[in-house]
Amino acid sequence: MSELHKFIFDGLPVRGQLVRLTDAWQEILRRRASNNQTGAYAPPVAELLGEMAAAAVLLQAGIKFDGALVLQIQGDGPVKLAVAEVQADLRLRATASVIGSVAPGVRLAELVNPGGQGRCAITLDPRGRQEGQRPYQGVVPLVDEGGAPLTDLAGVIEQYMRQSEQLDTTLVLAADEQVAAGLLIQRLPVQGEANLSQSSLVREDETGQQLEDDYRRIAILARSLKREELLGLDADTVLRRLFWEESLLRFPPQSGGDGPRFACGCSRERVAAMLKGLGRDEAESILREQGRIEVGCDFCGRQQHFDAVDVARLFTPLVQQPPGAVQ
Ligand SMILES: [Zn+2]
Repeated sequence: MSELHKFIFDGLPVRGQLVRLTDAWQEILRRRASNNQTGAYAPPVAELLGEMAAAAVLLQAGIKFDGALVLQIQGDGPVKLAVAEVQADLRLRATASVIGSVAPGVRLAELVNPGGQGRCAITLDPRGRQEGQRPYQGVVPLVDEGGAPLTDLAGVIEQYMRQSEQLDTTLVLAADEQVAAGLLIQRLPVQGEANLSQSSLVREDETGQQLEDDYRRIAILARSLKREELLGLDADTVLRRLFWEESLLRFPPQSGGDGPRFACGCSRERVAAMLKGLGRDEAESILREQGRIEVGCDFCGRQQHFDAVDVARLFTPLVQQPPGAVQ
């Protein structure tokens, strides 16, 4: 079952999270594979999307925010758009639109950034957002501070956290057809020595330099985690192997109904609203061409059908309908 583990390093302003998506990730891949129009993801796309799903869970779980965290990559390669969305209660969904073929073994730069126009955006969309209220969004290019293309998603998100949130973050991500997983280590923001010495979390003998060294040591340990270990080992084993010399305080793992799990929030009402936005002429012209309107959800594959009667009802104000016409 998919799970999220949170922990802190006793006495240090450093926290960590480990996520392993198994059933939730397999469900996303299974639904895509059974979509007749798209077929399964090519392995490099699945790997990127799995890493995005794991990263989005880690980012969402690290903030206090009532709404959706949406991690998005807009690309200028075969992957035009990849999206991973995680709700505050860790319900998640993910999808990618791919045009053309994807060569085996290609990495981030070839998938989404061959022309240097790729972007990574993180959006915080509050629950029950009012019309006109804009969600918060931060965007970074897929190149490092010197302009060289970044080679993996973890590097992109580390840079985002540093630039947009001023948070030192170390991230290790990996995904295959069975598991999408990630380890995040983050230095907690601290404001000066006075603040630190009052915190019960922090040992009194720690100085600024010492804290810096502590974070670096833990970050180096985290980076030593190999892809096969992250994908193949359970959370307890990974944490013991990496941090056996550190004093780890672990929170109860989140899984099942409290953990990361696949769910899609799409509904017939939303598709109806989208058709209304399209306008009556456009909707009727699709009806004339195709007999009925079919809209498939990119995230879960669910199909919504609207026939001529449905469409007429959409565009007819309720007050003008004869009695008994409202269902
Ligand atoms: Zn859906």
